[in-house]
Amino acid sequence: MKKKAIMWIELGLIVLLAGALLAQCISFKKTRPVVREPAVPGESTLSYSPPPPPKLQWDTVKQIAKLRELITPRVEKITEDIYLARGFALGSVQMVITDEGLVIIDTTESQEAAYKILKRFRKITDKPVRYIIYTHGHLDHVHGSPVFLEKGTQVIATKEAVKFMKKDFDLLKEFHNRSRLNQAGRAAPGYSRKLPVKSPVRGTRELGELIWPTITFDQEYSFVLGGKKFELYHTTGETPDHLMVWLPDERALFCGDLYYQSFPNLSTPMLDPRPVRGWYESLDRMIAMEPKYLIPAHTAALIGEENIRETLTNYSKAIRYVYEETVRCINQGKTVDEAVQLIRLPDELAELDYLQELYGRVDWSVRGIYAGLIGWYDGQGAGLSPLPPRILAREVVLLAGGADKILARAIELQEAGEHQLVCELGDIVIDANPDDKLAHTIKASSLEYLGYTGGNLNMFGFYRSAAALERKAAGIKP
Ligand SMILES: [Zn+2]
Repeated sequence: MKKKAIMWIELGLIVLLAGALLAQCISFKKTRPVVREPAVPGESTLSYSPPPPPKLQWDTVKQIAKLRELITPRVEKITEDIYLARGFALGSVQMVITDEGLVIIDTTESQEAAYKILKRFRKITDKPVRYIIYTHGHLDHVHGSPVFLEKGTQVIATKEAVKFMKKDFDLLKEFHNRSRLNQAGRAAPGYSRKLPVKSPVRGTRELGELIWPTITFDQEYSFVLGGKKFELYHTTGETPDHLMVWLPDERALFCGDLYYQSFPNLSTPMLDPRPVRGWYESLDRMIAMEPKYLIPAHTAALIGEENIRETLTNYSKAIRYVYEETVRCINQGKTVDEAVQLIRLPDELAELDYLQELYGRVDWSVRGIYAGLIGWYDGQGAGLSPLPPRILAREVVLLAGGADKILARAIELQEAGEHQLVCELGDIVIDANPDDKLAHTIKASSLEYLGYTGGNLNMFGFYRSAAALERKAAGIKP
């Protein structure tokens, strides 16, 4: 009986479908949307004299002073057997001395810096390097390794680190080189305006040979060397492959990039989304260990149980707050741009010295969390299969009455200091006609202003690169 009913329903559907086809309501032919190619607008002819170069903000001067402190090379004695070499490069190197040899944690991005550090370490001890540990596979932690490597040195990292390094240094190698230069403000060096003060940040030069781990582990690994116990835990955060090193007898914790003195870079604009939830969970694990010494891979070590507990608790709170607020916005159906406007750190966290947005930013974090948790479509239709941006841009330029009209408004806005809007208007003209030199030139000036007022090191680098690329497109040197 049931079978018969299904048969009748199927038959009915076939008849309906055949009818619809005959009536031409349904077509199985995939049709492309109509794409008309609007004419390219004429190049703008306005006369323009760029504004004077932006001045350094007092906040930026303070940042530079702080940076100088951070990049003054020094080897610090943390305990009788633990040394921290920082300021030689972007990344630091940590050395633990045992009766049977040395454990080196992270190796910087530069062999040149690594040589200098090893020379300083060799004034303290001549013991062999038995282990090198990578807290994670970022270039500023692994590229100095050939300098520390001796016969029989074992290199330890998580299993995930091998995957991570293959992605960064092989699969996405060209992209990573480009994004690194972009972040450092060096995407088009010939077209950058000279900095008003000498940059305290030394560039990462050509990267040397990569030394791959010889010992890898999934969640935990431990070993004893010269009577000292080393416990390694896979603790995600900065990267999915991140680990921390715990010396239980000394209560010393080497935390890699899970803590440094700035609001953390929970999302870096040109890299893949980071495990933000993992980050605060790792911090909670760190707090539970009650360390007496906290030795990060960037910035100074923290000493004292109380100090470390308080700092890590606030750090974890800040990350958790941003994560949970972002998730709330996602569930409420807010767009990422709406969420960015809404989410701010609570005052009691925002005012803390080690949570200033010098390196990471809350708005970038929100964007990164969106990118990591949900897809790219906003549910509003137009974004599902958008036209190339030039089509809309050409329509807009036509409606405005030509590129001159839009750029005249951009110049007015630039004089009023509305630099972001200048860049967005500039992009309409550039999308419509990439050869419009004036649009590139106006945009370059506003990008520089944005860089000088952003109060964030990475932002400064990105804007500096973008401004140089615009000048390059216009064929104009500053
Ligand atoms: Zn790092």
